[in-house]
Amino acid sequence: MSNEYDVVVLGGGTGGYVAAIRASQLGMRVAVVEKDKLGGTCLHRGCIPSKALLRSAEVYHTLKNGAQYGVEAGDIGINFLRMQERKREIVSQLHKGVQHLMKQGKIDVYEGIGRIMGPSIFSPQAGAITVEYKNGESEILVPKFVLIATGSRPRTLPGLTIDKETVITSDEALELTQLPKSVLIIGGGVIGIEWASLFNDLGVEVEIVEYAERILPLEDEEISKEMARLLKKRKIKVHTGTKILPETLEYGEGAAIIKAEQNGKEIECRAERILVSVGRQANIEDIGLNNVEADVENGAIKVNEMFQTKEAHIYAIGDVIGGLQLAHVASHEGIVAVEHMAGQHPHPIDYTMVPKCTYSRPEVANVGLTGAEAKAQGYSVKTGKFNFRAIGKALVYGEYDGFVKIVVDEKTDDVLGVHMIGPHVTDLIAEGALARVLDATPWEIAHTIHPHPTLAEIMGEAALAVDGKAIHS
Ligand code: FAD
Repeated sequence: MSNEYDVVVLGGGTGGYVAAIRASQLGMRVAVVEKDKLGGTCLHRGCIPSKALLRSAEVYHTLKNGAQYGVEAGDIGINFLRMQERKREIVSQLHKGVQHLMKQGKIDVYEGIGRIMGPSIFSPQAGAITVEYKNGESEILVPKFVLIATGSRPRTLPGLTIDKETVITSDEALELTQLPKSVLIIGGGVIGIEWASLFNDLGVEVEIVEYAERILPLEDEEISKEMARLLKKRKIKVHTGTKILPETLEYGEGAAIIKAEQNGKEIECRAERILVSVGRQANIEDIGLNNVEADVENGAIKVNEMFQTKEAHIYAIGDVIGGLQLAHVASHEGIVAVEHMAGQHPHPIDYTMVPKCTYSRPEVANVGLTGAEAKAQGYSVKTGKFNFRAIGKALVYGEYDGFVKIVVDEKTDDVLGVHMIGPHVTDLIAEGALARVLDATPWEIAHTIHPHPTLAEIMGEAALAVDGKAIHS
């Protein structure tokens, strides 16, 4: 294959491969350089494998509690290896799908480490890319544009070494071959809460230490409170406002012991495994960034709203630019970037329209501003809240903890945010996202006829509740 391209994408994760497909649809000649596997974190170490295991845990939980549905399933057991195998089958099927999409789009895939070399006489604008193969050989690609989509990796706390055995991250947790008896989770954000829910449903003793004053600190406060209450009900110990003291880590007989500081007092935590989920670090090293003029801020590549770095022909998207580190954000950013390269004028992304989900039991989802954020931005706000307990389908499911809250601008009646905790809310939030995109009012949501009986009816009721007119409250 010729080595000249309109765009070379560095990293074939969700951001990179989706951008490559869109670029190919726009008639560009495209290459993707991927050092590991197409699909990246989301497909191999993130969204998909974690949700596959969560689904297995959910099935186990439902069967174990089958008696309430009139299902006497007898002795229910866990075959953790089969759960892992099922997860691998799903990942493998989707991986093949991405490989097929690359072929279909006539996108050249180079399996090696890509590095930016900087401008040269052959490629004066974007600069050339070297691809280093496992066998030590290398190749040079000459693009008009470069798209950096090299993603991120788990972060740890200063002084806390990830030994990959006892002290692990989500990468190792996804590859466990045996369930531990107990897990201490450091970090009560999205990934930490998903793992807490999963392990607990599989009978593992779980303890969470969170530095912030509440778990899921980026959610509406009432949602954090509700989740804390429900975790407590499941006998998950949660310590908020608590700082882990990495230097106190000791390896004991079958358990690690680590101390933490809570309100000036020391507490001791003991668990077979310690799962560190304190955020992710952008992959900016070893990609040749020092050969170009791109700026780095807070450990991530700095870009403008079309995702151009300081070098106009070098773009960056996804986890490597920080911000909302989500798969659907990475792919949308990738689409905007390549459309801009192709001379189109895409809309900049409005990040207040991005839905954010936690796939625990119950699920959590939000889009837009919380009431507190809206007030801080000068809005005068009214809210509508409705509980799942009064939704027929939630009772049918046997899952009725939680609620939906809609935040509305009192002046314009526009929906500013939707916040949910409860069954299947990671699917229900799509309606909230559409409401944000269309600048919908509660009246418009309430007059959208929701089928009965569905969980989606809660959106209509929460919208009516904004003006105190909910039917079933
Ligand atoms: P990545 O997916 O990380 O892809 C980057 C790719 O670049 C990788 O394949 C890497 O091998 C490659 N690469 C790096 N350097 C080079 C180089 N020099 N040369 C060639 N290739 C290189 N997000 C959601 O939206 N929903 C979820 O449910 C969700 N769950 C998650 C659960 C977990 C446990 C984790 C860890 C993350 C989760 N995420 C979720 C986040 C999501 O996975 C990321 O936001 C998303 O993968 C980012 O996509 P990306 O393309 O920017 O980077």
